[in-house]
Parts: sequence; C-alpha cells; structure tokens
Amino acid sequence: MADRRGEDRAGGAAAVTSAFEGLEAMLSRARGRRVAVFLDYDGTLTPIVAQPDLAVLSPNMRQVVERLAGVAQVALVSGRDIEDLHRMAAIDGIAYAGSHGFQFRDRDGHEEVMEGAAAYRADLERAAAAVERELAGIPGTLIERKGFAVATHYRQVAPEREHEVCEQVETVAARFPRLRVTGGKKVIELRPALDWDKGRAVLALVERWGGDEVYPVYLGDDETDEDAFRALRGRGAGIIVGDASATLAQYRLRDVDEVHAWLEALRGRLADRPL
Ligand SMILES: [Mg+2]
Repeated sequence: MADRRGEDRAGGAAAVTSAFEGLEAMLSRARGRRVAVFLDYDGTLTPIVAQPDLAVLSPNMRQVVERLAGVAQVALVSGRDIEDLHRMAAIDGIAYAGSHGFQFRDRDGHEEVMEGAAAYRADLERAAAAVERELAGIPGTLIERKGFAVATHYRQVAPEREHEVCEQVETVAARFPRLRVTGGKKVIELRPALDWDKGRAVLALVERWGGDEVYPVYLGDDETDEDAFRALRGRGAGIIVGDASATLAQYRLRDVDEVHAWLEALRGRLADRPL
C-alpha cells in the first residue's frame, strides 16, 4: 500500500482536467480506432455505501452502460468476485473482469481464470480463517471471502480501532508469503502475490480486443485503479472519479452523477462519429 502513495503522481487537483472538457481531445486521439471503456464498479458506477451488498446500480446507470455497449467495447473491472460483480451489475452485452482481473467473462459468457491463480486458493482459505479468528473481537469488521482475495471491510468499525484491523491483517499476511496486502477505501485485502493488477488486466483486454486498433478509457475511484491509470498513460485516458488529489489519471469526474452524464455524452458522440 504505502509504496503506491509516494510515486510520480500528477499531484494537485489543478493538474487534472475535467473529463467533460477533455472529451473532444479523447475522441480526436481515438479517431480511426474503436473505443474501449473500462469501468470500476463501487464508487464509480455506484456511490460508496456502508456495506458491499448495498452498492446497488441505479436503473439509469445500467441503461447508459448498456447503450454505450452498442457503440464501444465495455468491460467492468472490479475487485469483486466475478459472480458477485455480475449479480450486482446485471448489465447485458458487456465483459466482466473480477478479482482485479484474475477472472474474466466475455460478452458471450465465455469465462477464463488467470493461469496459475487457482494454486493460491488453499492459502487464501487458510488466511481467511485466520483473519476471521484474529478479528472476532473487533465489532463492525466484515470479512468477505472472494474467489481470489480475502477482503476485510472496516467502514463500520469504530475509528479508533481501524488501525487494529489493519495490523491484524498485516500480521496474518506475514504468515503467508504467497499472498500480498493491498488497500482501498476502508478495506484491506489479501491477494495472490502475483504480478497482476487492474492495469495488467486492462492491457490484456486491450490486446484481446485489437491492441493499437483500440483506444482505451478507464474510469475508477480508488487506489487499485491507479494501476490502470498508470498502465494507460500515453496509450489511452484515465479518469479519476471523486476528489482524490494524488492520481495518475489525466481527467476527473466529481461523482457518480457526473459519470452517468459523461458516459451518456460519450455514447452520443460515438453514435454520431463517422467511421
Ligand atoms: Mg471503486
């Protein structure tokens, strides 16, 4: 976690342009190419809520993403397990990448699991049991066992005990060298210590969808999305959702409502675009 914070981020909100202002520049760079839109789920398509199960997608957002899929390639890229992501989003005609890209389902429903990832399942199971044991005494923790991660949510934990949650998870992690710790908004996760993140996942999808014939745009709101912003620098566009000042994204949308409006604007422009 800590290693991500001090990097070569653009620094300061002023360096990040509104994605509405940047739309024409993005379209001009995308000229002659297909646009691929990668969307994080929590905090990007839905507001941040107290528990993961409450992050319900609005019918309006579902509709705009489905319509966008008529004029662009669209994939959801989330830390959620793919089954959970698919159940929550329930958007037709798009691809899904779950567990930060360890799991992939294309728009026809064909599924793949990243090679080698399955070998980490036993460690994840054991680590999940250990985390549950260690955190049993801290009210408000929510431990989520996913296919390729163990997420400990602490949004409901008393603020003065949040650091205890993180310390306990780090202590468990130290016993599992094949796992690594990543962070996010009120969540700390154990994941396979594979060289894989949302950035790698997005680049793999870009290759799958045509490489240089594709102009990728990524929208996300959190720490793990920075890997995707980094991967797309000089290659596509990164859009940070929210007010984070340290980001590698070039563009910004302030909240979920702006995401909705911007996706609709993009869809309209792509529908009008001469081929
Ligand atoms: Mg998010």
